[in-house]
Amino acid sequence: MHELSIALSILDMVALEAIKKQAREVKEIELEVGRLAGVDISALTFSLQTAQRYSPFEKAHVRIVEVAPLSRCRLCGREFSPQKIFDRCPYCRSDNTELVQGRELRLKSILAG
Ligand SMILES: [Zn+2]
Repeated sequence: MHELSIALSILDMVALEAIKKQAREVKEIELEVGRLAGVDISALTFSLQTAQRYSPFEKAHVRIVEVAPLSRCRLCGREFSPQKIFDRCPYCRSDNTELVQGRELRLKSILAG
């Protein structure tokens, strides 16, 4: 159900973009989903298919771009691929790290007709 509510809010964003672009139809929906966003991509894909049937965007093709996680160590400044959000730096073992990318869940673009 988590993914279904995400799907519904994505379609809301699509509607907003479609209005801004004065689109008559939406052909493609492109999403960016980070691997650490806590979203199951296959569940999201299925939820979107379901939700789209109840929306004006039933025929839109959904493209999901997965974003690989990337962290930066605040101590040594190096970048690495974390397994989880607050991973230690593999170079200096510091826990003073920040996730630069990998948690995004956003509408990247729509292709309007
Ligand atoms: Zn470090």
